[in-house]
Amino acid sequence: MPELRKDPILGRWVIISIERGKRPSDFASPLHKRRVRGFCPFCPGNEYTTPEEIIAFRPDNSEPNGPGWTLRVVPNKFPALQTEGELNKSGEGIFDKMQGIGAHEVIIETPDHLSSLSRMAPERVEDVLWAYYRRINDLKNDRRIKYVLVFKNEGEAAGASLEHTHSQLIALPIVPKIVREELNSSRSYFDMKERCIFCDVIMQELEDKKRLVLENEDYLAIAPYAPRAPFETWILPRRHESFFQPLNDSYKSLAEILQGVLKQLDSLLDIPPYNFMIHTSPFTGEDNEYYHWHIEVMPKLTKIAGFEWGSGFYINPTPPEEAARYMREVEI
Ligand code: ZN
Ligand code: ZN
Repeated sequence: MPELRKDPILGRWVIISIERGKRPSDFASPLHKRRVRGFCPFCPGNEYTTPEEIIAFRPDNSEPNGPGWTLRVVPNKFPALQTEGELNKSGEGIFDKMQGIGAHEVIIETPDHLSSLSRMAPERVEDVLWAYYRRINDLKNDRRIKYVLVFKNEGEAAGASLEHTHSQLIALPIVPKIVREELNSSRSYFDMKERCIFCDVIMQELEDKKRLVLENEDYLAIAPYAPRAPFETWILPRRHESFFQPLNDSYKSLAEILQGVLKQLDSLLDIPPYNFMIHTSPFTGEDNEYYHWHIEVMPKLTKIAGFEWGSGFYINPTPPEEAARYMREVEI
């Protein structure tokens, strides 16, 4: 019998179709074996083809916008939103609009075209997380910006147009709907119980361990109770933290668990395309008791089609308890 499950935070229902119970090997992985093909604007030596860098890590103190870097952040050449201008909020009858102001940046995670977040040195993954943090904190000073969404598209099927590994951020003049819904829901839970709903979920998941994927001293990775997709995995700090920031001035343990989860997925699903998104509190009220920041990792194995668009439901052929068990069995 298929099972309907409700996500406790968003109230989003999913259909776990146990009948079709897919194992990792059942997902015909749209392989994205890496090959150097043609010209890559993210490779060293081609810095002149990107807009000027915003920050870069240059251990050899090399000149900006040339080789020598280990990580670069540059504006997206084809930005979804533009940095210059005012919002000019206005109405058109019952309709609302504003200018497309914000920022769209690319984090080039490594100079090595063939590397990936799952395979690079752990210290380099820490650098990537520091780059996210530094950019978020800088964009916070712009009064027009309400939220910064950091995300990664890995593989063509997950939306990456360039194969050289990178992540992106989009700074927005509004708090996105899904984040607002998470915030509202966790705030009303807190009003009722004086507890953070994510902390409660963590406590329960640590107790029965069925959906526990990976843990270390500071973070845990779980398969959520009502996942939208097979092998969807959330990474959360163990102790309550509402804003994406380093613990004890370090991203070591976060880099470790993020890379661990990506290695598990690579091994289990033959280097699948995936997305991840960082959900953190918005700049207004970033330090609070009710919202718990986290990373949502979504391997791209199923298709979003009419039913999902029309209903907001997702059909997931792999129960999270099984997904978590498969993940735990991977040696990393
Ligand atoms: Zn490249
Ligand atoms: Zn919490």
